[in-house]
Amino acid sequence: MKITKLTPIIRRLTAGNSNMFTGPGTNSYLLGENEVTVIDPGPPMVNHIEDLISLTGKSLKQILITHTHPDHSPGASILKEMTGVPLYGLTTESSRKRDEEIDIDKILNHGDKIKTSEYSIEVIHTPGHASNHLCYFLIDENTLFTGDHIMDGSTVVIAPPDGNMSEYLKSFWEISKRIPN
Ligand SMILES: [Zn+2]
Repeated sequence: MKITKLTPIIRRLTAGNSNMFTGPGTNSYLLGENEVTVIDPGPPMVNHIEDLISLTGKSLKQILITHTHPDHSPGASILKEMTGVPLYGLTTESSRKRDEEIDIDKILNHGDKIKTSEYSIEVIHTPGHASNHLCYFLIDENTLFTGDHIMDGSTVVIAPPDGNMSEYLKSFWEISKRIPN
């Protein structure tokens, strides 16, 4: 297991699903120490989920998913089942290649705030790569978790009907509003 501490609040654990679409693998992010949020538990890889549990223990409070593609969200269902922690995100019906099994406890809306005693997250709806794609803005550190909306070292796949290039470009405007002057 290779955990990387990126900032005082953020840790990153990359799943072992490296391929041409995922690059080095899906990044799972852990926010906080005492009230931990996991963003994108990734594919259904039990060893990766067990690593996330061993890193968070009883501190795990909630699971967020950026969207329901199979390399991002199926692990969330396993993590939820193993810990009983609630799962937050957004669903879609139009994607041909989506995680149909997912059972989201709380549907998030654009502008929602998720607050803990350590940090606050704002939800930004960013359709384009997927109609149910959400980015998460960590207000305390001016940091945006972009899921598959922006990727390191690759252009993003926009596959209609769920993917939409016009929506994709408009979503950057929503993101740009959070950039400090
Ligand atoms: Zn995706």
